[in-house]
Amino acid sequence: MLNGILNKDGTVQTVENYIQGQWVHSLATETVDVMNPATGQVIARTPLGTAEDVNRAVQSAKSAFKPWRDTPVIDRVQVLFRLKTLLEENIDDLAQLCTVENGKTLAESKGDMRRAIQMIETACGMPTLLMGKYLEEIASGIDCQAARQPMGVFSAITPFNFPPMVPMWFWPFAIASGNTFVLKPSERVPLTQIEFFKLAEKAGLPKGVLNMVHGGKATVEAICQHPDIQGVSFVGSTPVAKLVYEKATATGKRAQALGGAKNFMITLPDANMDLTVKTIVESCTGCAGQRCLAGSVVLGVGESTYQRITQQILDFSKNIIVGDGLDPKSQVGPVISKAAQERVKELIQSAEDEGATILLDGRKTAHTTGFFINPTVISGVTPDMRIAKEEVFGPVICLGKVSSLDEAIDWLNTSQYANTASLFTSSGAAARQFSYGASPGMLGINIGVPAPMAFFSFGGAKDSFFGDIKAHGQASADFYTDTKVTISRWVKDSNIWATS
Ligand code: NAD
Repeated sequence: MLNGILNKDGTVQTVENYIQGQWVHSLATETVDVMNPATGQVIARTPLGTAEDVNRAVQSAKSAFKPWRDTPVIDRVQVLFRLKTLLEENIDDLAQLCTVENGKTLAESKGDMRRAIQMIETACGMPTLLMGKYLEEIASGIDCQAARQPMGVFSAITPFNFPPMVPMWFWPFAIASGNTFVLKPSERVPLTQIEFFKLAEKAGLPKGVLNMVHGGKATVEAICQHPDIQGVSFVGSTPVAKLVYEKATATGKRAQALGGAKNFMITLPDANMDLTVKTIVESCTGCAGQRCLAGSVVLGVGESTYQRITQQILDFSKNIIVGDGLDPKSQVGPVISKAAQERVKELIQSAEDEGATILLDGRKTAHTTGFFINPTVISGVTPDMRIAKEEVFGPVICLGKVSSLDEAIDWLNTSQYANTASLFTSSGAAARQFSYGASPGMLGINIGVPAPMAFFSFGGAKDSFFGDIKAHGQASADFYTDTKVTISRWVKDSNIWATS
């Protein structure tokens, strides 16, 4: 599969849009480089598509809607059952491709693939998820039914950090419920989804049901404004999430926009320390810290817990092996780009400038190619510092001290973000206080990355989520359908069935 990325003459391919079941050139005049973050090598180019590219993809999806909607749901999900099998058969190649374009380790790519496949498994349950409601005798001789109906063309705009999984939060559910779809993957990681689409075609998906258009800002704006798109899902940074939500809803579309994060992890004195330290470090440094559920600020409750957790986290982090994700020994890969690497370094510097102590400085790395940052541990972080407020999206662990669980919850609740938070404790009462009082939409108790499985719904609160219907699980049936109520009265003509 990797050999397929490069043209035979060694030049780099510009990826194509997928419209009406065909791979076609974009009308774009500009491209961006897709790079292997471990080497800095350009492996493909993504066209920055135009409004007309979007329009062609939408018209393709629109024309496929009627016959697809008329296909019984049990037949629609057969395509997804076949796609699941094809993805399982190709999981190693696809994980490798994900590592090459995103940088995460092979084990992490495999996990990403597993989560993607679980989305399909859950979407295969659409006959159950789609069920409506029925109540007989709402008045004398009158019954009422509420059916869920697909609405037409939906679209999703996705980020770079989970190339297999995040697009699958949307399109399997949208098409299983009878809609048609236009995906705009991240211009930095288009390759894995291209392979998914090829397998969807092989699984028998009719032409036009699923379309892909590549691009950046202009493409996204064209999606938000297109009159034939019923709803838009977005996952990415908060400023863009807010913009997409505003623009899509301004044209009357449904929208759900999942944004950035700043995730806190609280350690109480009664926590199982060895498990807690391992869980925290893996949360903060796994996927090079580029998870929306990555831990960022670790709060030790009380002086001795703070001292102990700081020392143990430091000791654990020093031994992490950083390297090319294709090397099975690597535990942490590179960040996505030179710009990301520079931004993380600048935030580490800001912490030092504002009075924190850099105990382990990941800016010093032995790697001379690619975009590596080693695990970084910073102590003495206080709520006013930039590093305590801004999303880092790098393998950086910030440690702060608080005197009580109340103070810890108050601190994390001041954040503009509210994606996730975790508590480490052996106290049920503390866990209950935390679940009740912490703002984030997804919480972990003795869990480092509390990612809801495909059959639950995913999404944060505050500036981490714009909208009201979250992603995947039962919420997907709500987002991708409109409810139609039919009230019926059937009057019996007593003569019709009379036997003589
Ligand atoms: P990003 O916002 O840069 O890009 C996301 C998508 O938006 C891409 O498809 C990109 O082409 C498009 N885009 C970028 N700039 C745009 C603009 N100005 N106008 C219109 N469209 C634009 O995000 P990213 O760097 O790819 O991903 C990392 C971010 O995503 C982090 O903030 C992370 O927390 C967030 N994220 C959130 C979740 C969640 O569930 N809340 C999940 C994954 C990632």
